[in-house]
Amino acid sequence: MVTYRELLKKQTAVLEKAGNDNALFDACELMGKALGADCRGGAFESLLAGEAETSVKAEFEGLCQKRVNGEPLQYLLGEWEFYGLTLKVGKGVLIPRQDTETLADLAVAKYKKTDNIVVADLCSGSGCIALALEKHLKCREVWAVEKSEAAAGYLKDNLALNHSAVKLVMGDVLDSDTANKIPAADLIVCNPPYLTADDMAALQTEVTHEPKEALYGGEDGLDFYRAVTRIWKDRLKQGGTLIYEIGAGQEDDVMQIMVQHGFENVRCRPDPCGIMRCVMGTKNEHLTERTE
Ligand code: GLN
Repeated sequence: MVTYRELLKKQTAVLEKAGNDNALFDACELMGKALGADCRGGAFESLLAGEAETSVKAEFEGLCQKRVNGEPLQYLLGEWEFYGLTLKVGKGVLIPRQDTETLADLAVAKYKKTDNIVVADLCSGSGCIALALEKHLKCREVWAVEKSEAAAGYLKDNLALNHSAVKLVMGDVLDSDTANKIPAADLIVCNPPYLTADDMAALQTEVTHEPKEALYGGEDGLDFYRAVTRIWKDRLKQGGTLIYEIGAGQEDDVMQIMVQHGFENVRCRPDPCGIMRCVMGTKNEHLTERTE
């Protein structure tokens, strides 16, 4: 007889041999998926002692093979956690990253004492930021803007899964017609595509499975910061805040773009690794009177 524990050991070795640095973690997660059980739960240990069913064995080995071929663990699991929320993910949507929790932290810290705010999340993807802010702030309305039909499919599932009242607007954030579909907001957050052409040429295998349109921010990675700042500053109330996630080393350029558009108190903030991960600023009183 073959037990699940033996299968786990064997596939962990297969993943390790393929260069996976988290082989045991990934193998446990995939075993949990194949078994339909929570591999972090207390019952998992005793399940592992059992004799492996042929169909579960085949499912597990198939998942491990896909992982060896570079498919992201998160896509294989079909679910991932962000800010304490469980979200559906899969081909066609960017996987929520821990980096992005920095943006959520900043927004929550800034608005936790304010009631009744209107929030807009641009380039919402899975909806991870919109959902986190809806849960942790006292919002009157949260709007999520997404262009991709595939991503929006996951977003809708995630709204349902989390019993959310977030309102989805289908549209391109680079189109001012999209901005006109949303009321003036107290807070606009955006994790746009920000990888450069050079970054795109050197992607980790896993990331090549993710949608290019969620990653590529133009030759210098800054296309969305330029256009979104210009188009969406009019959708921000006076005194409102715009917070961006940025890529490593983009803080000076993005701060400069916001300053050029009249934002005040423009600053950058690091993620837990010390990399500048967010740029934020406040819309000043006279911003809408400026001409460009
Ligand atoms: N943080 C992602 C990465 O490094 C990029 C996501 C984005 O462009 N917003 O792959």
